[in-house]
Amino acid sequence: MTTRTAFSDLRADFPLLAANPGLVYLDSAATSQKPRAVLDAVRDYYETANANPHRGAYKLSGTATDAYHGARREIARFLGAADADTLLFTRGTTEAVNLLATGWGQAHVHRGDRIVVTRMEHHANFVPWQQLARAVGAEFRICELTKDGLVDLDQLRALVTANTKVVAFGHVSNALGTINDVREIVAIAHGIGAVAFCDGAQGAPHLRVGFDDLGVDAYAFSGHKMLGPMGIGGVIVKRRVLETMHPYQFGGDMIEFVFDGDTTWNVPPHKFEAGTPNVEGAVGLAAAVRYLEALGMDAVRAHEMALTRYAMERLAVIEGLHLFGPASAEARSGVVSFTLGDIHPHDVSTMLDVDGVCVRAGHHCAQPLMRALHQSATVRASFYVYNTADDVDALVASLVKAKARFHAHA
Ligand code: PLP
Repeated sequence: MTTRTAFSDLRADFPLLAANPGLVYLDSAATSQKPRAVLDAVRDYYETANANPHRGAYKLSGTATDAYHGARREIARFLGAADADTLLFTRGTTEAVNLLATGWGQAHVHRGDRIVVTRMEHHANFVPWQQLARAVGAEFRICELTKDGLVDLDQLRALVTANTKVVAFGHVSNALGTINDVREIVAIAHGIGAVAFCDGAQGAPHLRVGFDDLGVDAYAFSGHKMLGPMGIGGVIVKRRVLETMHPYQFGGDMIEFVFDGDTTWNVPPHKFEAGTPNVEGAVGLAAAVRYLEALGMDAVRAHEMALTRYAMERLAVIEGLHLFGPASAEARSGVVSFTLGDIHPHDVSTMLDVDGVCVRAGHHCAQPLMRALHQSATVRASFYVYNTADDVDALVASLVKAKARFHAHA
């Protein structure tokens, strides 16, 4: 494998991995490990700049304010958005989609309108739209997938009718690894005047996003999946869409004037960020994107694709292993999702844990997809920058062992 050398020493940058040499961490789609640079940035913020931002006339509060908005500018630039004030910080993708479904959805979606999602959506990009549809009396339609685990674009074209207001779709499926054709989906949505909102929870950590060129009206992400802290993420919203959105939460910072009977709103991003913000999270995430930028997102993608291709080749020869999702490594991110004969995925995961191999087993917060696949669960291994071919080898060895052990006791 060509990328093995370039990325093989990154483990040393991650204190948890460095302290546990035997740990084979293959659950980065759930959350990533954190490099020392991120931990240092959070500590440094508290040691040198901590105060409540926006509210104080004293210098230290100004330092905290600068740290917060400086982080916003860095993250926006990383994601390819020139207008940093259109990046709204949230706790993560879940809160970002709820913000869109409430702040935009309640203002724009009415009885008889249609909302379209895809079969591969994470519950975070499924349930908020389903519930919005129920609340306002709109139609909620689901675009099915091809056998290869891709969005069926012909079906999408047919589903996106004149009354469709929004197409909500993931950049990358956390359950299958499928990388969606964002531009094509956007073109279909925009073709009839609908907005296209993208769940980038699995896109932003692994692919160059280029928000301003991508065409999507909003792109949501989670910091903890891209080397940053938990509890920080956000959504970038095109300015003309943002200007039509209602506030999502009410309270401090998001107001302009509060009168006894009514209130006027601050400008974005403040209008959508009520209360004391997560400054340490923003600062930590900015350090994470600097780390990713130093690696280069094209190199990150190349490394993960090589690992995925290698994993697919090695898994293919394990008898009884069924791999879900796209047939080629090019069409997927660093995710392999599979079942192993008649061994329950939870048992597979428990047996792998004995060898220090951390994989996820379950429905991956995608029950509508699992139902369509006729599976209650799969095993999912997911790769990131610190993984190497050795980790794939350890996964394969442990699977072979688990199979032998299971059948010896069956
Ligand atoms: N969307 C996708 C595709 C995900 O994989 C996840 C997390 O697994 C989410 C949304 C939700 O992200 P969070 O839990 O960080 O809000």
